[in-house]
Formats: sequence, structure tokens, C-alpha cells
Amino acid sequence: MSRCCEKSVTEIFGINVFNDSVMKQRLPKDTYRALKRTIDEGAKLTLGIAEVVANAMKDWAIERGATHYTHWFQPMTGMTAGKHDSFISLTDDGRAIMEFSGKALIKGEPDASSFPSGGLRATFEARGYTAWDCTSPAFLKADTAGNVTLCIPTAFCSYTGEALDTKTPLLRSMEALSKQAMRVLRLFGNQTAKRVITTVGAEQEYFLVDRSLYQQRKDLIFAGRSLFGAMPPKGQELEDHYFGNIPDRISAFMAELDYELWKLGVSAKTKHNETAPAQYEIAPIFTTGNVAADHNQLVMETLKNVAHRHNLACLLHEKPFAGMNGSGKHNNWSMCTNDGQNLLDPGTTPHENAQFLVFLVAVIQAVDEYAEILRMFASNPGNDHRLGANEAPPAIISIFLGEQLTDILEQFQNGKAKECKQYGELKIGVSTLPTFPKDATDRNRTSPFAFTGNRFEFRMVPSSASISGANIVLNTVVAETLSIMADRLEQAENFHNEVQQILKEVIRNHRRIIFNGNGYTEEWVEEAQRRGLPYIKNTVAAIPHLISEKSIDVFTKHGVYSKTELYARYEIALEDYINQIHIEASTMIQMAKRQIIPATIAYTTNLAHSINEINQVSGVSSKTATKILAEATELLDQFDEALEILENYLKESSQDLENHYEQACYYRDYVFVAMEKVRSIGDQLETVVDGNLWPFPTYSELLFHV
Ligand code: ADP
Ligand code: MG
Repeated sequence: MSRCCEKSVTEIFGINVFNDSVMKQRLPKDTYRALKRTIDEGAKLTLGIAEVVANAMKDWAIERGATHYTHWFQPMTGMTAGKHDSFISLTDDGRAIMEFSGKALIKGEPDASSFPSGGLRATFEARGYTAWDCTSPAFLKADTAGNVTLCIPTAFCSYTGEALDTKTPLLRSMEALSKQAMRVLRLFGNQTAKRVITTVGAEQEYFLVDRSLYQQRKDLIFAGRSLFGAMPPKGQELEDHYFGNIPDRISAFMAELDYELWKLGVSAKTKHNETAPAQYEIAPIFTTGNVAADHNQLVMETLKNVAHRHNLACLLHEKPFAGMNGSGKHNNWSMCTNDGQNLLDPGTTPHENAQFLVFLVAVIQAVDEYAEILRMFASNPGNDHRLGANEAPPAIISIFLGEQLTDILEQFQNGKAKECKQYGELKIGVSTLPTFPKDATDRNRTSPFAFTGNRFEFRMVPSSASISGANIVLNTVVAETLSIMADRLEQAENFHNEVQQILKEVIRNHRRIIFNGNGYTEEWVEEAQRRGLPYIKNTVAAIPHLISEKSIDVFTKHGVYSKTELYARYEIALEDYINQIHIEASTMIQMAKRQIIPATIAYTTNLAHSINEINQVSGVSSKTATKILAEATELLDQFDEALEILENYLKESSQDLENHYEQACYYRDYVFVAMEKVRSIGDQLETVVDGNLWPFPTYSELLFHV
């Protein structure tokens, strides 16, 4: 019996998490209550409380085999990090005891100098601080060798408090949203809710390939995506993979993945085959925004680790294979009161409807006004291969609302909410709007930002990136529009009239962002441009929007990013782009020179020998062999020329360009373009050269071998 089946799901779920029930069990009542107040209401945490919690946490962890603890944080690399310390402490007489103080729980001081800081490090000191985020539970992580570490989710910042991570701004943005949403809720008469949290469910797409094949491909190892690869005879055109039968080997992998995630308290729920061959998806049940972000990091790490154990390699890159669907992350997002009211749930009474509509249009206005910033937070070099290509949401942000909601909102725009047979009197507070379908049946899959019954689904998020960025910007821009609405409503003489007025204005001013049609068509791109929607085609074009006046205004106003922090992120995003393309180009050159060219020469030499031998024996020259030889030789020359151009661009790129932005443009406009040429000839060579001589596994083997 596989290890996954030894215990029932309910027995193992959260077994490695220091969660609420463990805390209830192990903490003295008053400590538990104090900690809960911090977690639920943001109350200050005293060192005394931390001391008691740390001790209980340590005992719990040691009972489960832990020897070390780590402050687990998320630097701006998109991954997680942590310095591991053992619990060991020495007594005066030289004995070892296991210790963990409150101070060690709440604060750590890892050296920050090896993490990206975008200049924050130069001006401030190298030391970084990690601070316990008690709203995300601590957990135990075991490696394959059986070493167990207590992981404490932490925020990571510089000596002067600048955020060096993705969690700090995420927590700040959640605070900002809560504050503004609460103002609106109070105006609607809600006196019971204490805070509003964002709920997030991240659907994660990924590819699985055989590990031994993966190891033969330098591009997959170094760049995470294939830099060469001709299309296999069969791609995804039959659409037979999506939701298809899951092969045994994958099924075993998925079972262990679920099991490992459940132990970590990640509620892995849905799994299925995705569109492309060898592509799959996993989605947990939604939870609080920052926990969802932590969990998504755990999902990505666990995917890689479990794949390894099954002799598979998990590819999280946005576009591992050209010509096949790429991977994304669907960020399902909503706002919810601490007592469980989903603010994007239409509800059934007029009162609820009005409140729902205000929150709904707040999102619409925010997405329209800050589309460039949203687009920026959804960009990375990998996603440049997806967005706008014919498989993913276009690079233009629009909102799918569905017909019924669009219709209702349009009626507000056309003057006073007039009577409508289908929907009844629309005047808020007077009559009931119909209950909206919770689950719109015509799910529009082509929209980058879709309302799906009781939440929005932001579908542009890169599969390999942290979901924090997307949520930071969403929370902040919605906080901004809510704050404007709250300002107006607080001063209004007639609340209901003002609500009507707001709805009308938002629809009139922001209707252009609503698009229910097929987002994959060329007509939409034209239409969107007529509507004046920003069309930002790639990462480099998106990055400057981080430091636009609009961005600085909104992020600083809500205390999410300071201007310095935004500039730091701007630098990091550019550096990241440059590094990524540089690595890809270097890998490509290596594969070309050390693998493709030698293989092609070997092949053409074989051909030449054959031609000679045939000629000697039969006195005639083989037409076929001669033709193939000519073709391969010609292609090889072209390949070499293209390669030389790429090499030159790469060499020149090291010359001093003014700044990172110019360098990034150079990489995009010259290096990247030259790579495409090299690839296209390389892929033609693959179709000509003897398959037995081809130096690395092909798409056919990679995609259809598991
Ligand atoms: P689909 O593929 O049809 O979009 P899935 O079931 O794969 O649907 O994923 C939907 C995701 O949305 C799940 O993670 C689910 O928990 C999440 N979700 C559902 N309701 C909410 C909500 N109110 N807020 C945030 N996420 C939600
Ligand atoms: Mg989805």
C-alpha cells in the first residue's frame, strides 16, 4: 500500500501545522485568547505572550522530530528562503538542551545582502530582519532524508523597515483594503463586522516530464523552458488531454502530492489534466489572502519535490513548450467580513444588492483606472510568451461580467433605474433585484478578469510567480476606489441617492473595461484600442508603470509601498528580465555550439560518406542523399550565421548602456529577437537531421513519454 493511503485524509489533514486547534490544546487559555486577538483583530503582541507560544511551538515541533527552526520568508526572487537554526543551546556544564525563545520566534536577523534589494541595500545596511506573521500558521517541513524543520512564516524587511519581500506589502494591502471596506460596510449599517479580509484561491498549472529526459535538456534545466523543439506530429489539436484520463504514473504522483499538501494544511481540492499534453492543474480551497500566498509557495515547492521522488520533473514556467498552451495561475479573489459575509456575493435582499453593487463597481472602477499596474504585476519574461499569444488571455485587461449583471448595470447608466419587466424595479432599497446565478453557466474562458458568481478571477498571473503581486495591487486599487466612494457616501445628504449616483457614474465612466465577448480575436484587440484600453505587449513595456505617478500615488496613499520601495522593485524587475534573457541566450548558444552543430556535422558527414560509397558501388549518385545533404548544409550555414548575430548582440549587451531600462529594452529588441531566429532554424534542422543523432530529447519524447 502506498504511503498515501495509510491514514485517512481527516487524520492527516494539517498534521504538520501549528494551527488553531493545536494552539487551543497546547496554550494556556489567556495566551490563546491574546494570540487570537492578534491574529483576528490585529492587536499588539507582547513578548510575554510570544515567550509562551514559542515554548509550546518548540515542544510540539520536537515531539514530531524537528531539530531546527527557520524564519520562512519570501524575498523578491519569487521563491522562499530561510536560515536554519537548531533549537540547541548549551548549559553551563556543557549539556545540550532544546530552547526556543519568544524573541527568536518574533524576530530574526538573516543577512540580507544576497537577496535582491533593488538598491535598498546600498543605502541601508546589509542586515535584514524577519518578523513573525502570526496570521499564517507555522508548520513542519520534512525533507526526503527525514530532517524536520519548524517553519515560521515571516515578513522580511531592511534595517529601516523597507519591505524586502512580497509578504510585507501584501499584509499592508490587506490592511488598507480592510480599512476602506469597513467604512463602506458601516455606511450600509453593518455594525458587527470587525474587519474585512481578502479571500484567495489560486489554481496552479504545471507540466510534468520524465526526469531522465529533462536532465538531457540544458534549456529546461537552466531556463525552465525549451529553447529549441520542433512541433511533434501530434500536439493538442485533438483536445483529448483536457480533463482526460490521468495515467497511473501521474495519478500516483498526484496522490502523494495531495497527501503532502494536506499534511501541511493546504486544502488541495481539484486536480485534472490541462489543455496541453503533459499539463496539469491543482487548486486548493480558497483561504485568507496571505495564507493563500504562503500555501501557493508550498504548492510550488511540493510539486517540485514530489515530482523528483517520482522520477519526474515539474515545470512551472509559463511557456515550457512553444506551440503548446502555456501555464498560468488563476487568482480567484473576493472580500469577506471576519464573520463570513462574502461582499461579492449578490445576496437576495435589496439592501444586500445595493451593497453588493457598490463593492462590484468599486472593483470595476479600480481595474479600469489601474489596468496598467495590474498588467505590470502580471508580467514576467515567461508570461511574455503567453499573454497576447493565441492561448492565454490577451495582454489587454478587460472584465467579463456576464450578460445579466452587465444589463443591470447598464440600466443604471441609462438614467434613473427604470422599471424593467425582466428584473423588476431596480431602485435600490425599494425592491428586490433577482438573485444572480452563483455560477454563470457560460464561463468565459478568454477573459483576463472574470466575475464568476461570487468572486473575480484574475487569470493573467504567471504560473511560476508568487501570487502576492497580483493581490497586492488588487487590494490596493480596490481600497482606493472604496475610499473615494466612502468619502462621498459619508458626506451625502441622501445615502440612497448617492449610491445610485455612484453606480451610474462608475458605469458611465468605466463601461469600456467590460467586455463579454471572445478575447482571443483580432477584432477585440482593435475594439479595445478604439475604447482606449491600454495594450501593454511585454514585460519591459509594463515595468515603467511601477513608478508612474499614478502608481506612486495610490501605493503611498494606502501605505502599501513607499516611493523608495517602488523604485527598488522597478530595478529588480528590470534586472530580473535582463538576467533571465541573458541566461536563455547563453544556454541557447551552448546548446547550438556543443550539441546541434556537432550533431548536424556528424549527420552531413555520414551523408557525404554514403553518397561516395553508393557512387563507388553503383556508379550513380543518390539523388535523395545529395538533396538532403545540400539542404542540411544550407540550413547549418544559416544557423551558424544567426548564431553569430546572437553572440554579437550578447557580447555588445555588456557594454555600458545608460541604465537598466535601456539594457532591458536592448535585450528585448535585439537579443530576444535574435534568439527567435536561431530557434526557428534550429527547429528546421531537427526535422532534417537523423533522429538517432539528434542530441537531446524531442518534444514528442518529452510530452508523450509519461
Ligand atoms: P475553475 O477551474 O472552474 O475556475 P476551480 O474549482 O478549479 O474552478 O477553482 C476555483 C477556485 O476559486 C478554488 O480555489 C476555489 O476555492 C476558489 N474560490 C471559490 N470561492 C471563492 C471566494 N469567495 N474567494 C476566493 N476564492 C474562491
Ligand atoms: Mg479558473
